[in-house]
Amino acid sequence: MEFKEHLKRYLSDEQIEDLLNAMDGETVHCLLLNAKKMSDDKFLSLFPNIKPHPFVKHAYYYDKDEYEFGKDPLYDMGVYSIQDASSMMVAYFLDAKEGDRVLDLCAAPGGKTIGTALSMRDKGLIISNDLSYARAKDLSQNIERMGLGNVLVCSNDFSKIYRDYEGYFNKIILDAPCSGSAMFRKNDLAKLDWEYEKVVTLSNVQKHLIELAYFMLAPGGTLSYSTCSFSYEENEDVILALKTNHPEAVFVKLEDDPSFYHDPSLPEGIHFFPNLFKGEGQYLCLIKKPGESDLSHYIGKGVKQYDSFFASFGLTNRDNEIFHDAGYSLTEKVETKKLNLLRYGVHCFDIKEKRIEPAHHLSHFVTKDKTIALSKEEAEKYIRGEAFPLKGEDGFQIVSYLDIPLGFVKIVHGLAKNHYPKGLRRQKFTLAE
Ligand code: SAM
Repeated sequence: MEFKEHLKRYLSDEQIEDLLNAMDGETVHCLLLNAKKMSDDKFLSLFPNIKPHPFVKHAYYYDKDEYEFGKDPLYDMGVYSIQDASSMMVAYFLDAKEGDRVLDLCAAPGGKTIGTALSMRDKGLIISNDLSYARAKDLSQNIERMGLGNVLVCSNDFSKIYRDYEGYFNKIILDAPCSGSAMFRKNDLAKLDWEYEKVVTLSNVQKHLIELAYFMLAPGGTLSYSTCSFSYEENEDVILALKTNHPEAVFVKLEDDPSFYHDPSLPEGIHFFPNLFKGEGQYLCLIKKPGESDLSHYIGKGVKQYDSFFASFGLTNRDNEIFHDAGYSLTEKVETKKLNLLRYGVHCFDIKEKRIEPAHHLSHFVTKDKTIALSKEEAEKYIRGEAFPLKGEDGFQIVSYLDIPLGFVKIVHGLAKNHYPKGLRRQKFTLAE
């Protein structure tokens, strides 16, 4: 079946034409500011022509020809995450709170995990998973860059372990693998690759994943189902199949707006169409499991051996653990035996020849009061990977610029030896003032 033909399952000819015309238009660009690192006022003073997102706090549209946000050192400092304006609506509607325990089942590269973690202000817990180990590595790097402290990253096939997590999460994000038709404007390759048979196969995968997710959802909890597909088969069909198997499941009625499209077969679901909403395409629906449950948060005993190191960075009242000669700090204890773990919260240090070497993630997690402020010239040297004279106590110290942590140096007799990760060093860049 043709792409256009299969949309007739739920759209009129006129709606299809409008949608296809918008898909030939220009991609719009958007980012989510990390308010822990920079205030909106400061960000707006640096980039005055950005425009606020109509719903999501701290999110802004920008013109890619005017501001190259992907190339700015502020990107590496975790000041923002570049995300599509429609896909941000998933974390917006999920509205996770500080005490929530969240599973992001198909999370890489991490847009929804980041949006959710920022709204939880480093409290609660997110288990952020992706089946693809390579993609989970990118996800893990993004968690480090943004300096998040409540995210465990793993790469598991949950169909093998879901029984261990019955009712464990009160919020679950299932941003399902899909045909990607709603991203055609951004990704021409996806357009060439589209086949109706793949949509049908993916619909079956999605029906399987939504069952797993519903099983792991606590009574009273909320499951967010989303795709970047325009196909009915990957959206309403999947959710209505869940409802057939679990008639008690409740579709959540969300705030409405003329820029949202709802199909009458499942009016609670929202389609973001690029002809109606300024962003790429996205579908989302929230499903509630009736009932109530108390989440018990157990911090755990953790390791004692490195207590003073963790405490010196304010990492108390958390679960501090050692995995594979590295120290990690997470908001609560999580059993990791069956998890293919990439990151257990904040990666704090590595143990090398019995000595502790602090990890880059820790520098991005801490607040500015634990740092030595650099001048613009010093910060430029730091980003280039150079050593430079710096006043401060001998030993490992975190340096910052514009009150934003950059990374570690080791001060030896007034000289700051550079510990900025080699992969992040740049020779040509412009630093904001
Ligand atoms: N949520 C991500 C974000 O906001 O950045 C985008 C996720 S993308 C739409 C779907 C992801 O699902 C892919 O990274 C893919 O590797 C992953 N995936 C596919 N099958 C999976 C499975 N059975 N379990 C977990 N992840 C899976």
